[in-house]
Amino acid sequence: MKYAIIIPDGAADEPLEVLDGLTPLESAHTPNMDRVAREGVLGTVRTVPDGFESGSDVATMSLLGYDPAIYHTGRAPLEAAAMNIPLSKTDWVFRCNLGTVIDGIMKDHAAGGISDADARLMLLDLSRTVQVPGLQFYPGVSYRNLMVCRGQEIFDVKTKPPHEMLDEAVEKYLPIGPGSDLLKSIIRQSQRMFDVHEINDARQVHGHNPVTQVWLWGQGHAPAMPSFVNRFGIASGAMITSVDLLRGLATLLGWENPSVPGMTSFHDTNYVGQGEATASALDQFDIVVSHVESPDEASHQADWKTKRAAIEAIDLHVVGPVLEKLQTYPEWRLLVLPDHPTNIATKKHGYAPTLFAACGTKIVSNGKSAYTESQARTGHVISQGHELMPYFLGV
Ligand SMILES: [Zn+2]
Repeated sequence: MKYAIIIPDGAADEPLEVLDGLTPLESAHTPNMDRVAREGVLGTVRTVPDGFESGSDVATMSLLGYDPAIYHTGRAPLEAAAMNIPLSKTDWVFRCNLGTVIDGIMKDHAAGGISDADARLMLLDLSRTVQVPGLQFYPGVSYRNLMVCRGQEIFDVKTKPPHEMLDEAVEKYLPIGPGSDLLKSIIRQSQRMFDVHEINDARQVHGHNPVTQVWLWGQGHAPAMPSFVNRFGIASGAMITSVDLLRGLATLLGWENPSVPGMTSFHDTNYVGQGEATASALDQFDIVVSHVESPDEASHQADWKTKRAAIEAIDLHVVGPVLEKLQTYPEWRLLVLPDHPTNIATKKHGYAPTLFAACGTKIVSNGKSAYTESQARTGHVISQGHELMPYFLGV
């Protein structure tokens, strides 16, 4: 049996007035996703358990069959796994966003999609300024960087993802609790340093959002997760994604991370290349997960046009070719689901159950006609996200 899972990140949404009461997904032309819904089971699944922030780390862990209540130790540790950063049991990892805060308001959690090279330079300069023993900054992709603390400091802190406070004052979301003073001091030092940084002068000339500070969140120790083969008996797996934390999750599961030239987190990504890579990875691996970040990023910008275009591109260039390829195998199954909703109206991740559709060998249709949130709500209900995987695998 070959298994494929396609994740259009944050594609689920609420109805929008500007779309005459339809969601971006409902208003999109998605013949391939509709076919999966029509020929298979359409339903809803709660991927974000009570008490968790809605994020791709929690939601993807759930949909891969691992209960976040047991296995989630934070988002940054997953990204550290993706970057092969060695961690001892007592080390702490934080996500270190480069962000744009103007007049105390979080304007951009991504600092205008800063380039890897510029982000690396700014972090390097920051690490020279912040002199704390055992503290290290690790440049990642664009605004998504990490900070590791190998000292004796205990961080019993509450932090908040910066994409969950867009257009809000950041003051009330600063870290609180034991260890927060050090974090706030690093944030303040970054504000002073970046305020006069030459890269910001260049960004201003080109009309890009300046990097005004770091934002520290998503902290935790390294998680201990059983491999996918030990948990579900599927011998080999791969995850195709542009996002560090999902590559880290895959690494912890014992999977590989094939790369695709030109793959990004935005609508400029190489959809065609990702579709081809996903289809051909099926020859090599028993399960292939293909994750596309662009609908989520468009939602955070409240850009419903780009969100809809991203969904349509995923349908055409990823779901279509993968469906075609799967049918060349004697037995196969396909699952399409956004990890969580991301709502245009709020620019934030939602907490509503997301929709899923699964089709293929021995999956009997439950009579739905289109891949939409409203039809999914009348379909099969999976109340615990980590129960979706055994259901999909048929194990
Ligand atoms: Zn996500």
